[in-house]
Amino acid sequence: MKTKAAILVEQKKDLIVDEIDIPKIDPGKVLVEIKATRICGSQIGEIDGTKGPDSFLPHLLGHEAGAIVRETGPMVSRVKEGDHVVCHWRPASGMSGPYPSYNWKGKKVSAGHITTFSEYSIISENRLTPIDPKYGHEVSALMADTITTGFGIINNDAKVKIGQSVCIIGIGGIGLGVVLGAKLAGANPIIAVDIVEHKLKTAQICGATHAVNCKQQNLEEELLTILGTPEVDVVIEGTGESRDN
Ligand SMILES: [Zn+2]
Repeated sequence: MKTKAAILVEQKKDLIVDEIDIPKIDPGKVLVEIKATRICGSQIGEIDGTKGPDSFLPHLLGHEAGAIVRETGPMVSRVKEGDHVVCHWRPASGMSGPYPSYNWKGKKVSAGHITTFSEYSIISENRLTPIDPKYGHEVSALMADTITTGFGIINNDAKVKIGQSVCIIGIGGIGLGVVLGAKLAGANPIIAVDIVEHKLKTAQICGATHAVNCKQQNLEEELLTILGTPEVDVVIEGTGESRDN
């Protein structure tokens, strides 16, 4: 069986889209049909070579997707054919199995336990979690990383408690996940800060109690008005920009 895939052949170059041969399904592995995938900073970093030379080239990419299980390898018990699944990079329970290796015109193409930039992919059982089909594949792709990372920041890193004030600077994908997590954790107030008006509006729909456009408003003054003090219990930086920028 073949699949179309986007292959990273050389760093700092465009991915090459071509057909590759799918290997046999090893124990602990699952063949899925990818229905929606996202790209995040990790893949852009891999393509741009921000972590230095890549010794696995050529290889496949991607670690967040919504998919349907098409075939399971030996010893797989957590998912079955036809299941809608979230494909995520963080291991859950189940097997991981060996890395799959694809064939591209006689050349080996490497892959990790999860890759998603292809129509079909072999992914480890422990990188798949079944989800009710009613949520749709695009929501599954968001559940794979962006939203769950936001929840993890609130629950595991910041350990936000009910009634704590939370200020989120930068309402991109992760920032929005943090807003949702803060709302679920019972934080109050939840102050969203950005320079883009429609992002601030979305943050308010998702649970932010206040929105500050720091291009037009003075953040310290606004915090003083909202909290009665410029000190916030938890501040989360979600812009990814260094201080110099
Ligand atoms: Zn990601």
